[in-house]
Amino acid sequence: MEIEEQAALTSGADFWHTKAVAGVPAAMVTDGPHGVRKQVVGEGLDLLASEPSTCFPPAVAMGSTWDPQLIRRVGEALGDECRAMDVAVLLGPGINLKRTPLGGRNFEYFSEDPILTGVLATEWVAGLQSRGVGASLKHFAINSQETDRMRVSADVDERTLRELYLRAFQRVVRRARPWTVMCSYNRINGVYASQNRWLLTEVLRDEWGYEGVLVSDWGAVVDRVEAVRAGLDLTMPGPDDVGDRALAAAVRDGSLPAAALETAATRVESLVRRALANVVPSSTYDADAHHALAREVAGRGIVLLKNEGGLLPLSPDESSIAVIGEQARTPRYQGGGSSLINPTRLDNALDEITAQATGTVRFAPGYDDPDAAAALARESSVAIVFAGSEEETEGSDRTSLELPAAHLTLIERVAAANPRTIVVLSNGAVVRTAPWDAAVPALVEGWLLGQAGGGAIADVLFGVVNPSGRLTETIPLRLADHPSHLDFPGEQGHVRYGEGIHVGYRGFDAREQDVAYPFGFGLSYTTFAYSGLSVSTVDGGLEVRVTVANTGPRDGREVVQVYTSLGASRVRRAPRELKAFANVPLAAGESAEVVLTVEPADLAYWDVDLGRWVVEAGEYTVAVGASSRDLRVEATVAVAGDDERRALTAESTIAEWFADPRGAQALTEAFAAMAAAGGGTMAQSAADPEMFSLMASMPLARVASFIGGAFGPDTMDALLKAAN
Ligand code: BGC
Repeated sequence: MEIEEQAALTSGADFWHTKAVAGVPAAMVTDGPHGVRKQVVGEGLDLLASEPSTCFPPAVAMGSTWDPQLIRRVGEALGDECRAMDVAVLLGPGINLKRTPLGGRNFEYFSEDPILTGVLATEWVAGLQSRGVGASLKHFAINSQETDRMRVSADVDERTLRELYLRAFQRVVRRARPWTVMCSYNRINGVYASQNRWLLTEVLRDEWGYEGVLVSDWGAVVDRVEAVRAGLDLTMPGPDDVGDRALAAAVRDGSLPAAALETAATRVESLVRRALANVVPSSTYDADAHHALAREVAGRGIVLLKNEGGLLPLSPDESSIAVIGEQARTPRYQGGGSSLINPTRLDNALDEITAQATGTVRFAPGYDDPDAAAALARESSVAIVFAGSEEETEGSDRTSLELPAAHLTLIERVAAANPRTIVVLSNGAVVRTAPWDAAVPALVEGWLLGQAGGGAIADVLFGVVNPSGRLTETIPLRLADHPSHLDFPGEQGHVRYGEGIHVGYRGFDAREQDVAYPFGFGLSYTTFAYSGLSVSTVDGGLEVRVTVANTGPRDGREVVQVYTSLGASRVRRAPRELKAFANVPLAAGESAEVVLTVEPADLAYWDVDLGRWVVEAGEYTVAVGASSRDLRVEATVAVAGDDERRALTAESTIAEWFADPRGAQALTEAFAAMAAAGGGTMAQSAADPEMFSLMASMPLARVASFIGGAFGPDTMDALLKAAN
């Protein structure tokens, strides 16, 4: 291929296609992530002008299922729809961490926890790609806010980057090998993701072994030559003739190595050929089956937050039901922006409740007429209020966690009129539930549930589905409690990730703060008991066995969650970290032994000094239970850990020398010899505990300077040799 042809191949033909160049055909890419948004040709950027496809529940609800196998089925179904629409790559999943509850795209992301995110997204990608359609893991990386997203520098320390913000990407890249990874818009510690060689080449390719295509987010490339130099392959959208020419010129004048451009072009070509090899002519998909799957996932993603006195589930022959709130009739079921799907059909909760109830169902739109709604509630045997956040969309963050004032008034009025009031929420990221939830006996978190959410809500309200969704993000009592609060959304081009590793529940736990509903929480219509925990070490990781029993009257599902802690650690740790989970169906009265594994990679922390992952030796606490704050059984286990001996140097402190067996011995002997030779009080005083505390933080070289002649360069050399 000529240099100009190679350059042409590395930018798109238009918004949604790669270029046909030198015998390499074009391929189509499309958003993503919870449906296939295939733009209608000629409709430009009109987000609503896309071919109908199934609007599955956005990631906020998918994540709340905590069910990898279910997510895999969604991936497969998305793959079938892509094939039927000739789409080669679906632009998802979005796996940025929900750092702040205000994140405008939180609905597109799975969780505030990296392992939960990574496990679920791995199955999404594996399911999609099993159909011969490529995924685009996005947005790489640290794109956890929309404010100033195209310029802001996310300033993050390396340990936090590795353990939190990159961890899910690493897992999915290694395990599911996505065909493409999409770089984000923002800068990371000052360098644009699109031209960040450390991120794109050193970490993603060299360390993680990624071999697929790196595509830019739409419009993320600032400088085509720098992007290719950093390891980016495909710039979208296109065409970008100016950039193509700049690339060719840079190769010709030697300022860009020819191999860099050739590699990028070859990768794009391989992607297109791979996609074409998987084309199945005139394939179709079963829209009814996909709608049913969307309903199943939605039902499984709903989280029952409160259910006093067993108000739920309702009996279908409840005499008179008041359904209140326009969102029951006009559902909020997805967020705005590039993920907007034109659904194949759309259920609403009002119709679905009416269809399942045998008593009367009456409706009041509510937000503008609280008086009429309260009157209806008073006359009814039960009232269900639908409330939700305002529009959430890509491109801007929210400014508040509060429900709209009209919704709060409505809840208050209806709850005062009927003590049997249930609130159903529709929101893409958490809304504040305090203090109004104290006044309602039942609260259902309905997220954004996709096109079949209406039926799913009715299924949960009437007990056709026993709720098993769990929170993937903490619901705080108030915004100011959130660990990210003081460092969001940043200023003057920078957002400092000041809470470090203490993202989400890690931060609430570390500061011992009360929350409205903790990470991992969700009620069921049945109850579960935990017993018989045993933990053993296997191949450097952990095997956790626990017996879970359904002790209540109904079949249900428990999400068994495993958290670890390490009290005495070299580095600051969160009090608890989710390490594994299992989604366990249990019939009423049934019990089962659940076996979970924690792999060594998931136990490891990122050691900044060593520049690598380290499993620290020590006594780990393993707690298992129903949420991060409802841990039912606990055990400790000794983990041998990695060999992580650090060389002692002249700059190591006295404490560090004494903490190391060889160092301690060498130093004790040296001090004794110096003292015997009359080598000054400093050497003698190391034996005195009080003096030792004073000296503990001194680098050895500085101690030497106090001791003077008796501790010369020869002594130091001999010590270093003996210790290392
Ligand atoms: C979004 C991506 C999306 C792309 C293409 C961007 O604005 O950040 O998530 O895939 O547009 O629509």
